[in-house]
Order: sequence, then structure tokens, then C-alpha cells
Amino acid sequence: MTTGTRILVLNAGSSSLKYQLIDMLDGSRAAAGLVERIGEPAGRLAHTPRSGPGREELRFFPDHGAALTAVAAQLAADGLGLDSPELAAIGHRVVHGGRRFTEPTVITDEVLAEIRRLIPVAPLHNPANITGIEVARGLRPDLPQVAVFDTAFHATLPEHAARYAIDRAVADEHRVRRYGFHGTSHRYVSRATARLLGKDPAEVNVIVLHLGNGASASAVAGGVCVETSMGLTPLEGLVMGTRSGDIDPGVVFHLHRVGGLGIDEIDALLNRRSGLLGLCGDNDMREVVRRSQEGDAEARIAFDAYVHRLRKYLGAYYAVLGRVDAVAFTAGVGENSAPVREAACAGLDALGIAVDAELNSVRSDRPRIISPGYARVTVAVVPTDEELEIAQQAFALVHTAVE
Ligand code: AMP
Repeated sequence: MTTGTRILVLNAGSSSLKYQLIDMLDGSRAAAGLVERIGEPAGRLAHTPRSGPGREELRFFPDHGAALTAVAAQLAADGLGLDSPELAAIGHRVVHGGRRFTEPTVITDEVLAEIRRLIPVAPLHNPANITGIEVARGLRPDLPQVAVFDTAFHATLPEHAARYAIDRAVADEHRVRRYGFHGTSHRYVSRATARLLGKDPAEVNVIVLHLGNGASASAVAGGVCVETSMGLTPLEGLVMGTRSGDIDPGVVFHLHRVGGLGIDEIDALLNRRSGLLGLCGDNDMREVVRRSQEGDAEARIAFDAYVHRLRKYLGAYYAVLGRVDAVAFTAGVGENSAPVREAACAGLDALGIAVDAELNSVRSDRPRIISPGYARVTVAVVPTDEELEIAQQAFALVHTAVE
């Protein structure tokens, strides 16, 4: 029987490990941090406890095991070690849950094997997530470990939205369909938006625009996701920091046949050297806005292309939902870039969408409405909190499991 009230949330990337230790009594962070450049000579661990100054370790972390062991030592130094009875579970962000994992899931050997079986559809993400799980299980084999999947919230996509219009047998054989990502954020933000409106999620239709370095849109009808912009992989949809988003698949054939690029080169091009970075050499929206305001033509085109794609999705999801109660901007760009929000919503009065310039310019880390009182659709900035969502789902699951 677990009596702990804290959840450790782990987000393992290919060379990084982010963590937050969350107190479930009030959602506050007992500690948080990040290990970067795992496997490289100049690794870095940055640890921020709730009380006291932040600490840094600059050294070689050979693998995720070494990184998590170092994190555990930092937590122990604050009296928050992994052996603490206060720790109820470890919640892991897992990117791809395929069709099987549509809910947070307590990790067993069998579950882990299934996550491993999904590597072919998430080759960049699931291996790191699996490593994180294995290392955490090694350190605390007795503690419940919960996987929370980025794809889960999108499991409700209707078949006509989830299917690509390709040969059915080929698609089924290779599990090619639209899964969607950032689901933990879309779920959290769509619910937080309903709260901001003083309504139950079941009563409202929301378009969520998660605009970070990766970016995706979703259409959420009465709390249920019915459409999202990412597909088999996180490459589809919006223009992102370094990813192209939607592209004619013919471009891939052309680059291979005519340009002589190999498949891995094209993969790297579309995932890492495209989007804002490809268009203007900067993937940080702050730089893109600054340069375009100074008259830089490439940065201007990058900004306009980003906003143009966003507006196409806004219009498309309006049509998908039929009635829209709110549009919510979230993540790094969505929460911080007033120029992007303004440009995305400009000239849409006929759809009931408008942004008040003064409200839009307010900087805050609280959920807030930026549309004028007369607008039919509420436009809001709703900060995302994927770690809290993961912690809440993991906590709810371990408490249900022991009752
Ligand atoms: P995320 O992936 O959600 O952490 O978002 C990271 C991205 O947010 C960065 O690459 C920037 O493009 C963007 N960003 C962060 N702060 C700002 C800001 N103040 N104004 C515009 N964009 C921002």
C-alpha cells in the first residue's frame, strides 16, 4: 500500500534526462532538473531544489544509468532520495504507445516488451524512454513505474482522421496511421481552457495550438480529441523549429532520385534542418521576430510561412468542429510570442475570432483570455504543464491500483 504523496516524473531523451519531483498535495515542485549531453565528454547536470540554491555538475555521464544515479544522489542530498517513503511512483513520459496504450499504464515486463515492439514507429524516441524506464526500475524495482504516452489522448481520433489514404493492407502490415503526439499537453491544456471558461470539458469545443520547438494543433470536441496535426511521426503538420511539417511526399522521391540524397539524409533534412531553421537559419521564434522586424527578408518569409500554416490549421479545425468555443495557445512560442498570436488570429472576425492588442501584450505565466469581450470565440493563452499531467495520471493510477 503506497502512502507516498510525491511523484518523480522522468522524461528521457536520446542524450538528455529531465526530471521533476512533484508534491501531489499541492502540485508544487520539491525539486527539478536536467542532465544534458549524456554520452558526451562535457555533460551537465543542473539541479534546482525548492529551497536553497541550484547546483551544477559538469562532467562525463556515460549513459542514462549514470545520469539517473547522479540525479538520485542530488535528490538524496536534499533529503528527497529515491528510497524515501514519500515517493509513491515514478511517472515516465513515453512518446509512442501505438494502438494498445490509450491510458496511463503500470509498467511490467510485458508492457516494456510492447513499448520496445513499437520502436519501428518511434525510432528516435521510444529507445530513450525505454532506457529511462529500465534504469529507474533498476534503482527502485519495488516502486510502481507508470508510463504516460504522448499518443494516448489522440487514440479517440475517428478512423477517417487516423487513416492515411493509402493501400489498406500495406498500412496495416506496417502499422502506418496517424497517431498524433504532444497528447499529454493537448489534454492538459484543453481541460485547463474549459476551467478558464468556467465550464466542464464535456461542454466545450477547443482548438489547442501547442507551439514549442515541436508544434502541433488539435481539435478537441467535448473533451475528446477528434483531429490532430502530427501523424505516424511528429514530422507532419505545422511548420516547427527544425521540422518541415506537411510536405508533398513527392519531395522525398525527388530529393532521392534527382538530388541523389540518401534516405537518412532526407530524414535529417526534414527533421533537423527544416522549419524555421531551414527557411531563415534560426529556429528560435524570438530571433525570427527580431530579425523580421529589422527588415530581414528571409526571417519575414519564415515568420509568414509559420503563421500561414497555423492559420490553415485553424480554419480546417474550425470546419472539423463546426462550433468552436475557444482557441488556446500554449508552449514556448504560444505562451510567449504576442506577434505569432496576433498574426494567427488577424482578420478572422467573420469566424468570431479576434485578439485584443492590449490583453495580448500582457506577460504572465497564468492562463488568460486575450480576446475582446464581444468575440464569439474565446482566444486564450494557457501555459502547459506536461509534468504535472503525467504526475497526476500516475498518482491516480497507483491509488486506484491499491484500493
Ligand atoms: P518549448 O519547446 O515549448 O520549450 O518551446 C521552445 C521555443 O519557444 C523556443 O525555441 C523559442 O522559439 C520559443 N520561445 C521561448 N520564449 C519565447 C519568447 N519570449 N518569444 C518567442 N518565442 C519564444
